[in-house]
Amino acid sequence: MPATSRHALVTGGNRGIGLGVAARLLADGYDVTVTSRSGTLGDDAPAGLRVVACDVTDPASVDAAFTEAEAAAGPVHVLVANAGITSDGLLMRMGEEEFGSVVDTNLAGAWRVLKRASTGMIRARYGRVVLVGSVVGLYGGPGQANYAASKAGLVGLARSVTRELGGRGITVNVVAPGFIGTDMTASLDEARQATYLQAIPAGRFGAVDDVAAAVSFLVSEQAGYVSGAVVPVDGGLGMGH
Ligand code: NDP
Repeated sequence: MPATSRHALVTGGNRGIGLGVAARLLADGYDVTVTSRSGTLGDDAPAGLRVVACDVTDPASVDAAFTEAEAAAGPVHVLVANAGITSDGLLMRMGEEEFGSVVDTNLAGAWRVLKRASTGMIRARYGRVVLVGSVVGLYGGPGQANYAASKAGLVGLARSVTRELGGRGITVNVVAPGFIGTDMTASLDEARQATYLQAIPAGRFGAVDDVAAAVSFLVSEQAGYVSGAVVPVDGGLGMGH
């Protein structure tokens, strides 16, 4: 089936990495639905993107978003679970709310959308899933115990579902971006940004297009024998972590 007849859904596709991925998949020929919490898109979104409202921490909202997207464009063949947040703080100062909200959004949120998407993929005997992790998931980051734990959890999620559904034409992979210039990284202090830059062999921060290119390959028909992988897009920062 050509990409033109495939339906791709990107959570948090209204800005940052998600928007870059959605724009790339649109250019690749997919019928693309993105989610945002408001159910709207900014002026920078390319024409042709469909948007539905979704809060990945709310199972009813996830179900409603998929139902609306499926009514408009049929079953979801390609899922990019990208929605994510940070709430940094050192271990001793991190509260239940900071830990719980990050894990609930980044890890449980990805599990909710993957579970909902899997029904249609199993029926179609075809699916491409990319979970957006982070180099920090396996590298660790001071002040990011909640975030790193949530992103490390995505690896176990992807690998377990690969074992469950790998025989049904469904692949589940993790892309692990390094330091990509978006709203999320703009909130990091200058000292942290300088430390990361020094450690990146590529000598630069990444762009959303760097991540989008990796996702584009992983969701392609040709990538059918790549599953349970963690694909770094970090300029060499994590070096195989
Ligand atoms: P942004 O902060 O720019 O965008 C975050 C996106 O997630 C927004 O679309 C936001 O929607 C959505 N989102 C947040 N919470 C929820 C929720 N509860 N339900 C649904 N959507 C939600 O982040 P980035 O583009 O930088 O990051 C995207 C992903 O990439 C994240 O998973 C992040 O952890 C990961 N990543 C980013 C890196 C970077 O350097 N930027 C590095 C490594 C990983 P809304 O607009 O409605 O708030």
